[in-house]
This record gives sequence, structure tokens and C-alpha cells, in this order.
Amino acid sequence: PVPSKSKTAMHGEVAFDVLMLCNDVTEFRRLERMRSEFVANVSHELKTPIAAIRGFAETLLDDEAPAEVQKQFLQTIYDESNRMNALVSDLLELSRLEAEEHRIQLLTVPLMDVVERALDRLTQVALARQIQLELEPFEPVNVWAEDDLLLQVFLNLMSNAIHYTPSGGKVTIRCEILVDRVKVHVIDTGIGIAPEHLDRLFERFYRVNRDRSRASGGTGLGLSIVKHIVTALGGEVGVESEVGKGSDFWFTLSRMSRLPEDKSLSMGGE
Ligand code: ADP
Repeated sequence: PVPSKSKTAMHGEVAFDVLMLCNDVTEFRRLERMRSEFVANVSHELKTPIAAIRGFAETLLDDEAPAEVQKQFLQTIYDESNRMNALVSDLLELSRLEAEEHRIQLLTVPLMDVVERALDRLTQVALARQIQLELEPFEPVNVWAEDDLLLQVFLNLMSNAIHYTPSGGKVTIRCEILVDRVKVHVIDTGIGIAPEHLDRLFERFYRVNRDRSRASGGTGLGLSIVKHIVTALGGEVGVESEVGKGSDFWFTLSRMSRLPEDKSLSMGGE
């Protein structure tokens, strides 16, 4: 007769298999739900500008509106099509990242080069909104990254900081050089974010204030792209914020390991 002990062990194995199967089904259902929520969100986000474009175009076709009103309507059509364009670009960027994240080739990138490219791109935007852009000096350091993806992270965080800060405010880039990582902060003196939103900010299409996001040309995808890229580069993202005071969005990157030729980079600042 089979000893009862091994019978129990056999039952245990079957139970384990059943449990694994249940987990797979649950995971499958979760992914399926996420996918259909995503499609619903995208459809909704596209419907808003399409409805506006259709509505204004119809009015222009029907009415004998005065020239200045026509111009105003055309401007709205132009703005809404730009919004759709931004949304489609961000969606393509997300799907490209998902398809390629396992194939991203990390190279050593001088952090300062990327920061300077980002500052070049956004200086005029900040100036136009009367926001002071400041870079705190830091030692030259090489990080493991892909430079265009890293630039995208800076651009998304810095343009958010500029857009969610009233004019007269300030946006600061701070690079903290740690032993094996660099922690980059994009700090603003803007509107800030209430604690209950902080956990969900990096989700696709999550916004604290939809109208404000739309008014600034936001797609609701900027931070989820940031999180995707930083994770693919092996780092972490986070945020600290206080309503009315401002926000500190940060991310980490791995520094080059301390190979002998990298000695100059690993001295000091740690
Ligand atoms: P959006 O295109 O709406 O800016 P993001 O994914 O970039 O989308 O950001 C998500 C939301 O996080 C924004 O709608 C805004 O509510 C909030 N947010 C992002 N950055 C900041 C910031 N620097 N200050 C205040 N709120 C911010």
C-alpha cells in the first residue's frame, strides 16, 4: 500500500499545479482587462479632438461666419489636430518601447551631453513662459543608457515641470552622483501634486486635472513613457511633491562601473 505520506505529497503536487494554472488564468485576465482598458482610453482620447474638429469644420462649411470667427475656428481645428498628432506620436513611442525594450543596447553616455541637449531644446519654451531654467553644476559622469531615450526622459520631465509651473517660477536640474548610480532630479516651484495622486501618476492617461493637461497640450502619456524608458535602462523613478510648493521628479541610472580607466570619474562627489 502507498504510504499516506507520499499520497499527501502527490496531492500537494497536483494542488500546486492547479494553483499555478489559476495564477496563469488570473494573470491572463488581468492583462486582457488592461488591454481593453487601454483601447477604451485611446479611443476616448482620440474622440475628443475628432469631435472638436468635426464640429468646427461643419460650422465653417454651413455658416457665413465673419472672417475673424472663421480664423478662430480654424485655429481650434489646427490645435486639435496637433493634439491628435502628439497623442499618436506618444502611442507609437510606447509601442516601440514595448517591442524593443529587451533589445535596447546600453552604451556609456556622458550625462552632461544629454542634459545640454535637453536644455538647448527647452530654453526657448521656458523663456516664453518666464520660467527660470537652472542646472546645478555636477562632475562629469558616464551613465549606462541609450542617449536618445535618455534625452526623451529629460524632455518629458522638464516640459512637465515648465508647464505645471506658473510664470516667474523656477525649474532646477540636479544630478546627485552616488557610488554606483546617478540620481537625477527635475525640481520645480510649480502647482505641486496632492499625496493621493502620487502613486498613480506614472500610469497611462492618469492626470490630476484633465483640463489643465489638455490646455498645456499634454497627452497623459509623458510620465508612463518616462517610467518605461527608465525601467528599460535599469533605473527607478519617483516623485516627491507638495501642493502649492512644487514637485521633485527623480530617476536613477547606473554609472559606469569603476574600471581602471574610469578612475578619474569615480573620484570625489560620493
Ligand atoms: P500630461 O500629458 O497630462 O502632462 P503626464 O503623463 O506627463 O501627462 O503627467 C501626468 C499628470 O501628472 C499630469 O496630467 C499632471 O496632472 C501631473 N504632473 C506631471 N508633472 C507634473 C509637475 N511637474 N507638476 C505638477 N503636476 C504634474
